[in-house]
Amino acid sequence: MTENNMVLPGEKLSTSEELLSGDGTFEEDGIIRAARVGRYVVDEKNRNAMVKPVTSIPVLLKKGDTVLAEVRFIRSSMVIANVIHVKGESRRISGDTNGTLRVSEISQSYVKDPAYEFSAGDIIRARVTQVNPNIQLETKDRSLGVIKGLCTKCRHTLIKKDNILECGNCGNKERRRTAIDYGSYDINNL
Ligand SMILES: [Zn+2]
Repeated sequence: MTENNMVLPGEKLSTSEELLSGDGTFEEDGIIRAARVGRYVVDEKNRNAMVKPVTSIPVLLKKGDTVLAEVRFIRSSMVIANVIHVKGESRRISGDTNGTLRVSEISQSYVKDPAYEFSAGDIIRARVTQVNPNIQLETKDRSLGVIKGLCTKCRHTLIKKDNILECGNCGNKERRRTAIDYGSYDINNL
């Protein structure tokens, strides 16, 4: 990963042979990965890999915001996703970030089971429809949905091929409720 690039959680930054895992990163099997959305920087003096929010003043979520969220749990009637980024903002989010996406809010068409549309660990783009008393999300528009999906077998990033997603590592084929720009989103304009 090139320094100063915007990165998503889970993205590979470096290896533990090259750098140490610093603020905003974590290490797994010798790979240093981003733990949050932000800009990738290297503290040359301490050989630390870090992911920095550009400013420390937090942003409050508002109704109508377009956000990125990481899918945590999937129930029969809803998806629970952690809001990790507000479009156009480089600040962290203050307060509660647990969003709920009801089954009726996933798509324009009927969705029987959210487990056919999303998987835990996916990064989705969603719209905030409510912030109080809890955060509600929707992904009905074609610009919304999964922008980065992980293989449920080996956790590698899924690559879009026609209407199906395929794992570049193990060849596993999966489907998702993808955003129209899946795999080709602009990382500097999230
Ligand atoms: Zn795989």
